[in-house]
Amino acid sequence: MIILKQLSKQVSLGGQVLHILHPLDLTIPRGQFVAVMGPSGSGKSTLLGLLAGLDRPSGGQVWINGEELTAMNEDELARFRGRSVGFVFQSFQLIPTLTALENVQVPLEIQGQRHAAERARVLLGQVGLLGRAAHYPAQLSGGEQQRVAIARAFACQPAVLLADEPTGNLDSAAGQQVLELLVGMQREHGTTVVLVTHDAQIARAAERIVRLKDGHMVEDVPGPARAALAGRGNDLAGPAEAGLEPPRVLAKAGART
Ligand code: ADP
Ligand code: MG
Repeated sequence: MIILKQLSKQVSLGGQVLHILHPLDLTIPRGQFVAVMGPSGSGKSTLLGLLAGLDRPSGGQVWINGEELTAMNEDELARFRGRSVGFVFQSFQLIPTLTALENVQVPLEIQGQRHAAERARVLLGQVGLLGRAAHYPAQLSGGEQQRVAIARAFACQPAVLLADEPTGNLDSAAGQQVLELLVGMQREHGTTVVLVTHDAQIARAAERIVRLKDGHMVEDVPGPARAALAGRGNDLAGPAEAGLEPPRVLAKAGART
């Protein structure tokens, strides 16, 4: 479970205070698939960085599975991330000098897991790339690279998977494949997923959609996948058709003068 309490981020720029994220409260139950949407510059990546403990908030707290990230020092945070958080980035971020297999192996080696190579093979198999184990990232398509990155992200069985525009550099077919893989892995491992996207098509896979605008959370509604999970018809059913609570408009964003 992820709990954000009054989480905020501001920076000083040339004597002016820039509010990147206004105080935000959010609770994400274990195993939920949440899409964070919003226009460019609305604070999505900032929120993800704070969730991962890669960035420090200006105020508020981040709790993940009963541990307060905002109370940890850098060493504790690094250990926490290695143990509990997986990342998938828009730009894949594979290590170019390592093969697909070795890339998946890295986090397992860092965790000191025995049989890391065998486990990495199993993971590559799960993303359908066992045949590419010896290939380097440059020899793989974008979609294949992202599938390797997903295998790497799930390698240490993280409680939380954070994905920032994971399909942003892919064509729609490859993007769809990567998304299906993410959902499959999430269901299989019971992972909590927070996925940032501005693609409504991608957000359809989410059980919940949180929308940011100008650093405010302006919407928090059940997503199409939750409607589908509720067993009422197909995934075109909106929250109303599925008998869920109506969309909640939380705040009017940034009516600044
Ligand atoms: P998104 O991911 O939704 O596109 P970001 O979280 O990357 O948005 O950024 C939100 C806003 O905060 C943007 O206007 C960005 O330029 C600004 N911003 C982010 N980090 C910093 C920083 N360290 N210093 C100054 N401005 C920042
Ligand atoms: Mg971003």
